[in-house]
Amino acid sequence: MESSERIIICGAGIAGLATAYMLAKKHEYENILLIDERAPMSLTSDKSTECYRNWWPGPGDDMVKMMNRSIELIEEIAVESGNVFHLNRRGYLYCVTDSANINPLIDFANEASDLGAGEIRTHQSIESDYIPAEPEGFEHIALGADLFLDQDLIQQVFPYLSNDTVAVLHVRNAGWLSAQQFGAYLLEQVKNSGGNFLSGKVVEILQKDGQVVGVKLANGERIEGNIFINAAGPMLKDLGDLIGVDIPVYNELHLKASINDSLIAVDRDAPMVILAENQILPWTDEEKEMLKEEEETKYLTDTLPSGAHLRPEGGMEASSLLLLWDVHDEKVEAVFPPELDPMYPELALRGISTLVPGLKKYIEKMPKPFIDGGYYTKTQENRPLACPLELKGAYVIGAMAGYGIMAAAGLAEIVAAHVAESELPEYAPAFSLSRYQDENYINLLEDWGDSWQL
Ligand SMILES: Cc1cc2nc3c(=O)[nH]c(=O)nc-3n(C[C@H](O)[C@H](O)[C@H](O)COP(=O)(O)OP(=O)(O)OC[C@H]3O[C@@H](n4cnc5c(N)ncnc54)[C@H](O)[C@@H]3O)c2cc1C
Repeated sequence: MESSERIIICGAGIAGLATAYMLAKKHEYENILLIDERAPMSLTSDKSTECYRNWWPGPGDDMVKMMNRSIELIEEIAVESGNVFHLNRRGYLYCVTDSANINPLIDFANEASDLGAGEIRTHQSIESDYIPAEPEGFEHIALGADLFLDQDLIQQVFPYLSNDTVAVLHVRNAGWLSAQQFGAYLLEQVKNSGGNFLSGKVVEILQKDGQVVGVKLANGERIEGNIFINAAGPMLKDLGDLIGVDIPVYNELHLKASINDSLIAVDRDAPMVILAENQILPWTDEEKEMLKEEEETKYLTDTLPSGAHLRPEGGMEASSLLLLWDVHDEKVEAVFPPELDPMYPELALRGISTLVPGLKKYIEKMPKPFIDGGYYTKTQENRPLACPLELKGAYVIGAMAGYGIMAAAGLAEIVAAHVAESELPEYAPAFSLSRYQDENYINLLEDWGDSWQL
């Protein structure tokens, strides 16, 4: 297409902003219009834990390759911007306390390593050459992963973990950033390149002779444009419906709590800390009886899923902690604002306290929590979409579930290359809707493994 023709992007969350940035900066399109009925980054993209990691499962190495590239792009943008969005590389700590879970943790480590996520250094005694992560910055720290199998060493390096911790995998190409500042920087760059933001709700995608010619907004305004990119997050499917294209996604509600760790139970320079095993919460007999009495609370006495996690929020002098634990992932209809379960902070706190016992003191006297949340928009196998749609000039980017902040740059690069008809990364087909027409892929879907959702 001509660089002067208008590109319309519906959605100014991280997917829309990253796509606009790639089109403006890498392909030099000037006429980009981001349309959103809300303020940029205000629906899902500001609710995230803002973390990233390159450690991803198969089948195939597409997810690891795309995520490696996405992180590389985020780093490039961090360098270009003077790291205005505080990208760090503290890593993720996957921890287990039951020796029966050591081998599954090692399998998990090896799978991603074999797919190209990096080498694993194993530390089996107190004498070790482990290089700790720096709390800030991202340019100077070891990659790959460190696997700790010595309990004394684990206690020495991560003293806030339970004495029962028997194995820890420290994934190094991982950490977090300020998503809000990342998004603001992308938008600023798009505007500096001639692009714009318009407040409005897209209600129709205008077509002529099988080609996109513009959009209609809820206020009746018509806007011309021959490229339309659906970056509508939880409304991805609704926007697909406007052109009769089924986008096979659904939504799950995910919450996040934060508390003030006034007693500094977790070192302020800690990485993201994850309990990578199922658990039964240590209720007293009396509590157990009470919970079992009610239908809605009975499940709390059962085995609950792995994945309780936390990370420090703010600088070394701050004391805020983010706590997350999803004990039931269900397909739901997206409603705004989402319903925030007031019990969530306590449950997340209890879940992660088994790994970080210093937090148990807050169970008795819970610091006033803050709670928010949004939707994971997902395909059935939890792989994202970044591809053209059946209508000429229409594209989609989304279904990024719980990893959109980290994946947006990599997926935006794919969509921008489709629009510009330039060379696609080799892994692009894995993120196209056309994968569902591939018989081999459909067969894979039947016993698709764990997606390591956090
Ligand atoms: C609790 C939680 C924790 C998470 N943690 C992480 C994490 O640690 N790391 C990570 O990488 N990801 C994380 N995520 C996931 C990440 O936040 C999402 O994948 C990402 O924000 C999705 O971005 P998006 O741009 O697709 O959607 P959104 O941010 O929802 O943006 C979509 C935009 O489209 C607009 N829109 C929709 N329909 C229309 C219309 N008809 N007209 C105009 N505008 C429209 C909406 O108003 C919205 O602004 C987390 C998510 C949650 C909920």
